[in-house]
Amino acid sequence: MFIGLRELELHTVSFNVEIPAGEIDYESKISQSSVLHSEGTAQLLNHALGEVRVLGDLNVTVESTCDRCVEPTSFPIESHFDLIYMPASSAKTGGEDELDTAGVEVGYYEGSGLALKDVLREVVLLALPMQLVCSEECKGICPVCGQNRNQRECGCHPEAADDRWNKLRDFRAEIGQHN
Ligand SMILES: [Zn+2]
Ligand SMILES: [Zn+2]
Repeated sequence: MFIGLRELELHTVSFNVEIPAGEIDYESKISQSSVLHSEGTAQLLNHALGEVRVLGDLNVTVESTCDRCVEPTSFPIESHFDLIYMPASSAKTGGEDELDTAGVEVGYYEGSGLALKDVLREVVLLALPMQLVCSEECKGICPVCGQNRNQRECGCHPEAADDRWNKLRDFRAEIGQHN
């Protein structure tokens, strides 16, 4: 669905969409694993500036690999969003700084309007946690033997799992190569 400025100049545009998995490209390791449902409105706030407010609710489940143990993990998202979009041309005029201080998420659009899919993609990425983990307690992969430590304790020495020791070991290995 495309939300055109011409239409926004006449009235607020409502949307209610069901987007099947595979239609939106997310970041490489993130994929949609359910239908994405979103309902909301787009409104032209300022005709002269071309400032558009997109407001609504979204729910979807996405899948990613866990940052620690690399197992596929589902992330259900239910998000209420309220975003401001400005024409890309206004980003160069210093308007960005002004808006940033207001603490509002600002996006930019090119040309004659917004592709709703791009907006929803943004909402999904913003709603995801910074660290994608299967659980807060995930023990990750053993850096020594590669065992997923959620499934089995491998019994490697915990010292070896410490990053500082790995660096020291690598350093020693490097020195060793020169001898
Ligand atoms: Zn994990
Ligand atoms: Zn191990």
